[in-house]
Amino acid sequence: MSFPGTAQEHTGQEWTERYQGALMNTFGPPQRVLVRGEGPYVWDVDGNKYLDLLGGIAVNALGHAHPALLKAVGEQLGTLGHVSNFFTSEPQVELAEKLLSLLGQDGPGGGAGPRAANGRVFFTSTGTEANEAAFKATRKTGRTTIVATEGSFHGRTMGALALTSKQAYREPFEPLPGDVRWVPYGDAAALESAVDETVAAVVVEPIQGEAGVVVPSDDYLAEARRITSEHGALLWIDEVQTGIGRTGAWFDHARSCITPDLVTVAKGLGGGIPIGACIALGDTATLLQPGNHGTTFGGNPVATSAALAVIETIEAEGLLENAREVGDAIRSGLADHPLVAETTGRGLLVGIVLTEPKAAEIQQAALDAGLIINNATPERLRLAPPLILTPEQADGAVKTLRMLLDEASS
Ligand SMILES: *Cc1c(COP(=O)(O)O)cnc(C)c1O
Repeated sequence: MSFPGTAQEHTGQEWTERYQGALMNTFGPPQRVLVRGEGPYVWDVDGNKYLDLLGGIAVNALGHAHPALLKAVGEQLGTLGHVSNFFTSEPQVELAEKLLSLLGQDGPGGGAGPRAANGRVFFTSTGTEANEAAFKATRKTGRTTIVATEGSFHGRTMGALALTSKQAYREPFEPLPGDVRWVPYGDAAALESAVDETVAAVVVEPIQGEAGVVVPSDDYLAEARRITSEHGALLWIDEVQTGIGRTGAWFDHARSCITPDLVTVAKGLGGGIPIGACIALGDTATLLQPGNHGTTFGGNPVATSAALAVIETIEAEGLLENAREVGDAIRSGLADHPLVAETTGRGLLVGIVLTEPKAAEIQQAALDAGLIINNATPERLRLAPPLILTPEQADGAVKTLRMLLDEASS
């Protein structure tokens, strides 16, 4: 499909060859060369249109080219684009306060009206850096052991990688920071035996995103809170993928009615502008002291303005509710297909578990049919579309996906 007036000078094939000559081969060849996006759609350089059901991997919460994000970024860049952390700016302070207030609202006192969580925020540019900040904060407890879960993903810097379970990611870079104890994900009894008085923190995702949208039992986080509290260890929840509306709540852990010690966010927070945050609650908030940590770009006025616009738009457009409704519709629309063992996730973080290892084949067929989805593992497809996805757009996507599942079954 092509659209008028946009014939490109070079083809996707040509750009891909240039990419391969100029960029490090860390990601393998790019699937397509994209040139434009609007709402939940993107177009490639050859004129093909796609419904983006991955949203830059849970990043483009407002879809592409949302006017509220454009306005916030444009106005801030035209006013004050960057200052060092020798200074602050209004959006930085406002965003920190806003994140704390969202944590307070969602916490055990939820529904009781505005109640900011008692805590402090450290801004970063990425999820891995948010986790790096949290990791450093845990070292200031005087304990060094971290309990992490099998199947986890926390990022690719050396510290975050030490807590990421995948052998293929870790092995070439060992030795990594040590003292990491591994437990099966979702297993509260295993946590109970792993956590003792030497443990600084337990780090856990409320839903494992990179592992293919793996959801633990409903009481898992509450158990993790109880066990860590009993041994004076911190509970560190990695909401980099699940946070800021993705699962139909500001923070996915809120449904467990717990107050963690550390919460990390990134991906959806800036709606495409790079920003992350490490939020430390209670006594944990003062572990990092002057000179202990820093970053040049973290908390930059443009990035924090973008995040404020994302949060305001999620509120104004009722996108938490939309994420819940549309996500449930996608899950129930696919659950009964013979090739689908189960559908997983919450809100617009959707896992499709196949009865056969055909995820890569289906991902490729979907791309050719104009749908961007992700094969997280050989058996698991993942969707993380923009939170603005309408029920009609989701319905169309479910029909196409069912057709692709039919084709893959035959
Ligand atoms: C993506 C992800 C990260 C890493 O974030 P980057 O911005 O890629 O560094 C960390 N934790 C979780 C749960 C993630 O999904």
